[in-house]
Amino acid sequence: MPFRIHTLHLGDLMVPWTHAVVKEPVHCWYVTDGTTRILVDSGMPGPAELKRRLNLDSTGGGGEALVAALRRVGTTPDAIDKVVLTHLHFDHAWNLDLLANAQIVLQRDELFHAIDPVPTQRIYYLRETLNAVLGRRRPKGLRLVEGDIDLVPGVSLMKVPGHTPGIQAAIVATDRGRVALVSDCGDSYANWYPADPDANPRPLRYLAGDFLPGLIRSEGERVYAESMRRVLSRADIVVPAHDGRIPRTMPDEWFQIPAPVASGQRQT
Ligand SMILES: [Zn+2]
Repeated sequence: MPFRIHTLHLGDLMVPWTHAVVKEPVHCWYVTDGTTRILVDSGMPGPAELKRRLNLDSTGGGGEALVAALRRVGTTPDAIDKVVLTHLHFDHAWNLDLLANAQIVLQRDELFHAIDPVPTQRIYYLRETLNAVLGRRRPKGLRLVEGDIDLVPGVSLMKVPGHTPGIQAAIVATDRGRVALVSDCGDSYANWYPADPDANPRPLRYLAGDFLPGLIRSEGERVYAESMRRVLSRADIVVPAHDGRIPRTMPDEWFQIPAPVASGQRQT
């Protein structure tokens, strides 16, 4: 049976930027062919925890949001076989205690970075997450991987440095094509199609045909953009972590990728 992907919306972060507070949805993905049950990312802490630790306002989150979201798609945390952690930031790798039966699959470089992050990212790595990962029995509870791997037939992992050194994307084969769950490697469609008004309300036309690496990054712009280029060469559609417009059930829903246009040539 081919894979289906369910987007689980676990809550929203209210992220203060310079002039406004932006609501950022937090997602994880349940990927299954009916036999193998994979969770890509595992959510964020609840509102009280996030307020206390990061002084961030939020809704949802915590174990309750994950349990409820999995229930809606007909499963439970206990039934998950593998948890692919794209990276260990606080909004992607919480709730690991609920997923004790699963094997965590993580890039070795991401674990190193969680121990000794670049200074601007120290706040994003929570000690509990690191402890939960390091406390796993290997290899049953934790598999550290290096680079691109085939996880199971139909699901592969791609190391895509940029946002962090060891972030990985999951590439899932479906009936309709390959879906790249890219997480924070370009966390909204505006990063992927910066010149296109369909994807970006304020199109950056000078970036026509190119990518806009996210602002939170451990690596240089060229490294980040090259990771995005590699993803698009391997996948038919891209699903970022923090965009409210991502498809809910794939392949039933499919994002219509805005057609790339040369700068200045778009008909409006
Ligand atoms: Zn992140």
